[in-house]
Amino acid sequence: MIRFEHVTKIYKRNKVALKDINLTFDHTGMVFIVGESGSGKTTLLNLLGLLDQNTQGDIFFDSINFSKMRNSQKDRFRNQHIGIVFQDLNLIDELTIKENILLPAYLQSKTISNEEISNMMSSLNLHESLDDYPSNLSGGERQRIAITRSLTKETSIVIADEPTGSLDEMNALKVMSLLKTISSNRLVVVVTHQMSLAKQYGDRIISLEKGKVVDDTKVGKDNQKTIELNAIDIPRKYHLPFSISFKFARKWFTYQFGRMVFSLLTFFLTLTALLVALTINQFDSMDAMKNGLKQEGITYLKVQKTPVPHQSLSDSMFSYDEIDMLHTYFDESEYIETRYSQGISQTIRINGGSGSVENYTSITEEQIDLFRFELYGALPDDTSLETNVVITNRIAYQLNWLTEETYHDALSFQSIMDNHLLTVNFIQGNDTYKYDFTIKGILDTKYEFPDPLIDNSTYNFKFEHDLDYGLHSTLFFGQAVTDIILSIDKDHIGSIEPDKIVNNIYTLTRDNGYERALEFKQHFNPDDIQVISRLDYSLHLINEAKKTLIQVSLFLGVLFLVTAVVTFIGFIHNMIVNKNNSIRIMRSLGARYKDMNVIFLIQGVFIALTSTIVSTILAYITGIWINNGIAKNMYVLIPLVNPIIWLPIVIFAVTLLVAYLITSIELKHTFNKHKVIG
Ligand code: ADP
Ligand code: MG
Repeated sequence: MIRFEHVTKIYKRNKVALKDINLTFDHTGMVFIVGESGSGKTTLLNLLGLLDQNTQGDIFFDSINFSKMRNSQKDRFRNQHIGIVFQDLNLIDELTIKENILLPAYLQSKTISNEEISNMMSSLNLHESLDDYPSNLSGGERQRIAITRSLTKETSIVIADEPTGSLDEMNALKVMSLLKTISSNRLVVVVTHQMSLAKQYGDRIISLEKGKVVDDTKVGKDNQKTIELNAIDIPRKYHLPFSISFKFARKWFTYQFGRMVFSLLTFFLTLTALLVALTINQFDSMDAMKNGLKQEGITYLKVQKTPVPHQSLSDSMFSYDEIDMLHTYFDESEYIETRYSQGISQTIRINGGSGSVENYTSITEEQIDLFRFELYGALPDDTSLETNVVITNRIAYQLNWLTEETYHDALSFQSIMDNHLLTVNFIQGNDTYKYDFTIKGILDTKYEFPDPLIDNSTYNFKFEHDLDYGLHSTLFFGQAVTDIILSIDKDHIGSIEPDKIVNNIYTLTRDNGYERALEFKQHFNPDDIQVISRLDYSLHLINEAKKTLIQVSLFLGVLFLVTAVVTFIGFIHNMIVNKNNSIRIMRSLGARYKDMNVIFLIQGVFIALTSTIVSTILAYITGIWINNGIAKNMYVLIPLVNPIIWLPIVIFAVTLLVAYLITSIELKHTFNKHKVIG
């Protein structure tokens, strides 16, 4: 038995809808509530259906006091005991007619056969296919299906607010007679303003006026049964079938496509920015150098003393100790040491060239091969003191014996060897000894004429220029001759300390030559020695900019992440707001917080998965694009694989967590309202 004791309902702005209502309802029978519009009929029905909270007084269902129930208890009570037929709480368009009808049963973990549904539908004059969606149905048809739906739920109370309002007379009568039938073993409370229907079907008619009961008449015979109210024993766990939750999630997910795309875009940008930051962070100048040397086909490096302004000649030379140390890092064939000589540099000028030669050394066949030089003719004899020499094609060019066209031309080389001598002046004290050297071979050092478009202030240009006056312009004597020149130099070139004689060292880059050269450098005061290649400058620039680049991309990453999360929150918030009607219908049919939360959790997985997959693919493509463009010049490709494996996992986890938190908060908020409808 339901008992209203001094029940008052006051809406916002002191709108009194019900005033001190005292009523009792029996366990069975068909009760009509009539009255003018605004008299409080709906309000009364809502209180009866636990869809709203009264302001004063108490409502009892047997010994249970509704007013003292928590919202979650009310949700469970409604699920178990109350069937609702409201005009504005109609069908859910995302579900088929069958699924709509079965919703309350699903929510009660009950099964209902197709036959039962069909029987109910035909008794309400419905002949729609159960697998159709309700969107194309007329208002009347929807209403009758909604009634069918509420009848599948075998509850002890059925409340109906103007259930026949949108039906023609014939269908209205069918609905009423069906409600009348079921009222034999439950309480049916119907709001209507069709007095004729109330008189025809009602066991009792309650009239309201301005929130007060003005008339309460029993019409039919009194055949009350007492029905035991079952304990609230519906399972606590979630029980909406997964297929239904999944369907909701899927349909709601695609509902706001534009927002979804925007959300995805921000996640993609976040991922890309973080990817770039990580890549730059992983940029290793050593790797870059090694890759770059290989990529550019650079075979040798220059190892030199770090130039210091106004240094003495000695300070720019390696000592014998240092050269000894070099042996522990390189085989002798793997490096060429050039010796600096003021003494012989003059000779070149005498022969009429504009350039000058400042270096000399000896060289072996093996070194020539390893450095990928090419020798035309033969090497000077190492043991004899015969005055013969090997010059490079660069020197021959400086002496105007070659042009750019004949620079690598064997015939021209032969003609030089046949027609020219190299005059060399050796200076000993105040005496100069002049020798004419026969040219025994010409060494093609593969010098490349600089591109005239290259800015001659760049580091690359300077390095080439340096090589031009270094390795490319070195005279190669036999060992015996070299030893003699060495002794002359030692004795007579005052500014050079006797134990410092080697000017530049050229080592190989092949294999791990670059690393070995660096180890050699580390062995001494590292600032004292430089290992340089043509690539140093560009890589140096990247290294310099690394910190800033990481900061910028991290900043962008965080910015995008914040945008992504904000967009995402908005996205989910909007979805819940937009789907509020469905949530209200679900709730009035008995859905609890858990039931709805599972739907949104599945949806969260959808969103997280889509965000992750789409943004990962896009970031991957962007990474490849960056690799093809910018990273080529960095000589290091973006290591896509490493970050690509765990970044998406992070994105997925974060998206899912945010999705879950936001929906939980939003849903909790919705479910905390006393008001389920209206
Ligand atoms: P009926 O169903 O008989 O037409 P209602 O129960 O809907 O009447 O409304 C009773 C009174 O309460 C009306 O004056 C109506 O304007 C007011 N009312 C109904 N719902 C609200 C609400 N949510 N907020 C404020 N006033 C309301
Ligand atoms: Mg109303």
